[in-house]
Amino acid sequence: MSWRAEILTLFPGMFPGPLGHSLAGRALETGLWSLGTHDLRDHGLGRHRSVDDVPFGGGAGMVLRPDVLDAGIAAMAAGDLPLVVLTPRGRPLGQPDVARFAAGPGLRVICGRFEGMDQRVLDAHAAEEISIGDYVLSGGEPAALVLLDAVVRLLPGVMGSAESGRDESFADGLLEYPHYTRPAEWCGRAVPEVLLSGNHAAIAAWRRAASEAITAARRPDLWALHCRSVTPTLAGAP
Ligand code: SAM
Repeated sequence: MSWRAEILTLFPGMFPGPLGHSLAGRALETGLWSLGTHDLRDHGLGRHRSVDDVPFGGGAGMVLRPDVLDAGIAAMAAGDLPLVVLTPRGRPLGQPDVARFAAGPGLRVICGRFEGMDQRVLDAHAAEEISIGDYVLSGGEPAALVLLDAVVRLLPGVMGSAESGRDESFADGLLEYPHYTRPAEWCGRAVPEVLLSGNHAAIAAWRRAASEAITAARRPDLWALHCRSVTPTLAGAP
């Protein structure tokens, strides 16, 4: 059985969206993964199929009702898949989470809207609350697309060897080294000499040092973690 994504959303038309193109789109077409969308509005109440209500305690905006969300969750096929809720309050998504999700059978994903979702239904389902970054989107759908894009590309057979994820940023806790291609000189800027040398050991050493230097400069949080686990080289860094 291929990896399965089930999405609960008020905007099913937003899927597959960008996931219908390129790597993820080809993989969807060839059955390496599958996607099901569920319209939360189908479980709305009354003549207007209402899905939200005012927040207890007052305040601006509307909150998605727990009974409506619960009915939507119950209607999602593959009820045994891990349940992820996208929310700015969640744990920040990292590459280890992405690899963990890709190693599993699939995910059920709930996209919030308005001010958010009634907390009780998230607690009742022991949903994993995930954030894609410290900013607020208008809905969970773009966050779900980001999450699924990151996961799907790690599924077996999705990336060819040319696109392999082995050397990428975060794979070993570091940011990736800089890339260069032809021409070797462009607008007076030369490619680092070592990359033209054909000396594979020297190139690997340069790339490692460049990764470390960039990580130390740009991401002190990742760099501190890295230094705790290995002895950095930094020799030859650009
Ligand atoms: N009132 C919420 C708050 O301040 O945390 C923001 C709600 S936001 C306007 C509506 C929905 O967008 C959320 O329920 C969530 O599903 C989604 N969303 C917004 N920002 C997100 C983020 N950084 N990561 C994941 N989901 C996000």
